[in-house]
Amino acid sequence: MQFTISPETEAKRLAIRGFVNERLIPLERDRSSYDAHENINHTLLSELRQETRAMGIWALQSPTSRGGGGLPMVEQAVLYEEMNRSIFGPVCFNCAAPDDGNMRVMAQVATKAQQDWWLQPVIDGKMNSSFIMTEPMDEDGRGCGSDPSLTNTGWKINGRKWFITGAETAEHFILIARTSADDRKGLTAFLFHRDQPGWRILRRIEIMGPEEHGGHCEIEFDGLEIPDENRLMEVGDGLKLTQIRLGPARLTHCMRWTGLARRCLEIAMEYVQQRRSFGGRLIDHESVQTLIGQAAMEIEIGRQLTMKAAWLLDQGDFARKEVSMAKIVVADALHKAADTALQLLGARGYSKDTPVEWIYRYARQARLVDGASEVHRMVLSNFMTREGGDFWKWRVG
Ligand SMILES: Cc1cc2nc3c(=O)[nH]c(=O)nc-3n(C[C@H](O)[C@H](O)[C@H](O)COP(=O)(O)OP(=O)(O)OC[C@H]3O[C@@H](n4cnc5c(N)ncnc54)[C@H](O)[C@@H]3O)c2cc1C
Repeated sequence: MQFTISPETEAKRLAIRGFVNERLIPLERDRSSYDAHENINHTLLSELRQETRAMGIWALQSPTSRGGGGLPMVEQAVLYEEMNRSIFGPVCFNCAAPDDGNMRVMAQVATKAQQDWWLQPVIDGKMNSSFIMTEPMDEDGRGCGSDPSLTNTGWKINGRKWFITGAETAEHFILIARTSADDRKGLTAFLFHRDQPGWRILRRIEIMGPEEHGGHCEIEFDGLEIPDENRLMEVGDGLKLTQIRLGPARLTHCMRWTGLARRCLEIAMEYVQQRRSFGGRLIDHESVQTLIGQAAMEIEIGRQLTMKAAWLLDQGDFARKEVSMAKIVVADALHKAADTALQLLGARGYSKDTPVEWIYRYARQARLVDGASEVHRMVLSNFMTREGGDFWKWRVG
């Protein structure tokens, strides 16, 4: 069993660490670094992206033949974690959701012509993309389905979707729509461009936490026509594409969230080692040590689960139960780390003097997004029902 990383990965990790410490963390403290939705502003982002590209650490999920890093998931795990010690990190390296998952899936399943047109500009950082799947509940309490019907020229899309991250600024969209009533083969994936008529953004949904660029939008489709050449994979393969995309996408969330969780504890540690209360430093109180030790251990548990799932994905496995376990545990570890840090920082934690309150608000989405924790527990229970004791079997190699 291998628990080491290569010297090359370590060199990249140190380069990212240096960039995060020297370039990004100082910018987090400056309010002028932010846009109106508490993310890094676009002017600054463009400047920093020139620096990360010059470092040769760019779009690590994408093939080298298209200008990406071409790294396996295990290496991504090390480096994404390091990037997201800053709240600005992943987007500066073109490794932020949802582009990250969209680039990965397009490189896996799109045709060469589709990749040239739809994928390349996203890898190049010239445009952003969104992934459109989730639907709001309608007034009758039913899910409101996108309902494409075949026309003479291709497909016509009607319906409503919501919480579509990045939609306000994205130019390329991957859309999952229902094309038949079949449970497993009823969904199909399509590509469309923001300039095509037949769809509109109804609103940018206001949320409790800081926002990704382009926000989270509610979208209405009213006769959007998509030529068949912009269909991804075969008709009925929408669920398959979703599964191909969502496994790694969930796991890269875990990698990034681990970085955020670590940062929370770093900030807390700095404070508790200096701050004196009741005759000693905060870190000398046993109850403080317990809080720190527990949060650190939970981060490490989530990180090990993430790394195992990353390794399995690199072996060509879907790693469904490992990804589900990682997603549940890392989401909780992030909450724990943010809450622990906020508590130990006292009033300072509740202020905007550190990024802990930003991370605390951001963290709440982790137990919802890309499948609520309850749904992932249900997936695990289904695996237990099917596999029994084999749930925990070792791979022999
Ligand atoms: C910040 C953010 C960004 C997002 N970005 C995108 C995006 O870019 N594209 C996109 O398509 N979607 C996006 N989503 C949607 C996201 O994937 C869904 O919100 C998530 O999968 C949960 O689905 P839902 O909101 O429909 O919850 P529902 O299905 O309505 O479930 C509500 C709650 O019910 C409980 N529940 C549900 N099912 C079960 C079960 N089987 N057992 C027990 N309890 C259960 C859970 O507590 C769950 O939180 C985003 C959401 C958020 C919060």
